[in-house]
Amino acid sequence: MIVAYSSFIKNQLLIDGEWCLSADEKTFAVVNPATGEPIAQVANATPADATRAIDAAVRAQITWAEKAANERSRLLRCWFDLVMQNQEALAQLLTLEQGKPLAEARAEIAYGASYIEWFAEEAKRIYGDVIPPLANNQRIHVIKQPVGVVAAITPWNFPCAMLARKLAPALAAGCAVVAKPAAETPLSALALAQLALEAGIPAGVINILPSAHAQAIGVEFTTNTHVRKLSFTGSTAVGKTLIAQCAPGVKRITLELGGNAPFIVFDDADLDAAVAGAIAAKFRNAGQTCVCANRFYIHQSVYDLFCQKLTAGMQALKLGNGFDDEVTVGPLISLRAKEKVQGFVDDAVRRGARIAFQTPIQNSFQAHPAGHGAQDNFFAPTVLVDVTQDARLACEEIFGPVIGLIPFATEVQAIQLANASDYGLAAYFYTRDTNRIKRLCDQLQTGMVGVNTGLISNAAAPFGGIKQSGWGREGSRYGLDDYLDIKYLCETFS
Ligand code: NAP
Repeated sequence: MIVAYSSFIKNQLLIDGEWCLSADEKTFAVVNPATGEPIAQVANATPADATRAIDAAVRAQITWAEKAANERSRLLRCWFDLVMQNQEALAQLLTLEQGKPLAEARAEIAYGASYIEWFAEEAKRIYGDVIPPLANNQRIHVIKQPVGVVAAITPWNFPCAMLARKLAPALAAGCAVVAKPAAETPLSALALAQLALEAGIPAGVINILPSAHAQAIGVEFTTNTHVRKLSFTGSTAVGKTLIAQCAPGVKRITLELGGNAPFIVFDDADLDAAVAGAIAAKFRNAGQTCVCANRFYIHQSVYDLFCQKLTAGMQALKLGNGFDDEVTVGPLISLRAKEKVQGFVDDAVRRGARIAFQTPIQNSFQAHPAGHGAQDNFFAPTVLVDVTQDARLACEEIFGPVIGLIPFATEVQAIQLANASDYGLAAYFYTRDTNRIKRLCDQLQTGMVGVNTGLISNAAAPFGGIKQSGWGREGSRYGLDDYLDIKYLCETFS
């Protein structure tokens, strides 16, 4: 493999268009989760750095918002072109710090870039309105304006796409951004920002603050009155903390939080398609995806056959270092994540479940002497049968490559089970019955529904959840709304 990513390794903060050290000049380590090998020491932003970045964003936002929509669109399009021209290098960097297989990393770069392209186009379509007045000496106009400075906090599972999904609509709307990527994966965010600068996006419009002081940076983002909006993707627990911190300042907030997606297979489903969908929806990113299928409800009459076909399909999965071309499932992000997933499996087994299949673990992983031991982070894709509805893996987000199969008897029961969750991000179901499709689409309590498909993410579609899975939508024409204020102008004539 030709190593292309080295010129993209940036290890400083980006504030006001300048690469700089943190105020206390301290750094933290970024480690390859597949090998334990250190990749870089990265500047560790402090709250004082966050304040400085917010001040820079306040200045930059004024001139950025004054630019013609066409000009913002052109710069976003240049950025998209640069990201795609450097797709391979960015993908390698992503695999290096996040662990996902290179093919998936390439797809994530393209997926993240698709939001930049989409919002480059939407930037020109921020329409207002003219409303018929109640009195004929009045004219009612509605205009849309950027909310101002946006703070963004993103997770490690899609370090490029989750950030692009916030930066692109914010910039299209005329906002400037201060962003804190996850401490595990700051390099992809810094590389994306470097390309934004090269594309001509002005200094201060994008500021990136890698930091291992998440809580303190979060406090600055939520309490600084110059920040007009927070956009957060991450766990529901942290989302709730941020809501509380934003409350005193009544700060606008978009939340893309955790999920617990049901995956329902009816007796009339195309089982081969359902198996392919299950594998796609579960094992992408080693199961560390917010829209991952989490609970598998299989009609009792096809339960055994589905399990047989699923385990046969899983023979093709290969666990290993994402840089190996044949690998389809990489490591989990950390040893802590692995222990959590193992805890779910142990809990299900204690409640009567049985392990029906586990992908063999190769012995070829090499631990780096300075690391924590490569094999530590790898979790073999696993299928459990006879899982009970009260098992933790049916109630909580697994975030790992584990499938627990639960039988059901009737459509009504399947819908009840699917809706028996505090989360409401995504749901999937497989059936050939068109009337049933309508009933489930109407009744499933989630923000997104995959019908006979396990893959639903798309820049043209509104991504987001209901219940405790979040507020607001990213992508699509709706994705701009969160970055815009509506202003009503009442013109009165004599
Ligand atoms: P997390 O612990 O909530 O972390 C997400 C981000 O928040 C990271 O940048 C983290 O920084 C930061 N953070 C942690 N504590 C904070 C605090 N008190 N104040 C401010 N920021 C704080 O979540 P995660 O485990 O990294 O990510 C996985 C979660 O994200 C899952 O629940 C997944 O479902 C969800 N997710 C949702 C979507 C969606 O669109 N709905 C998409 C992707 C992921 P550090 O890294 O420095 O801790």
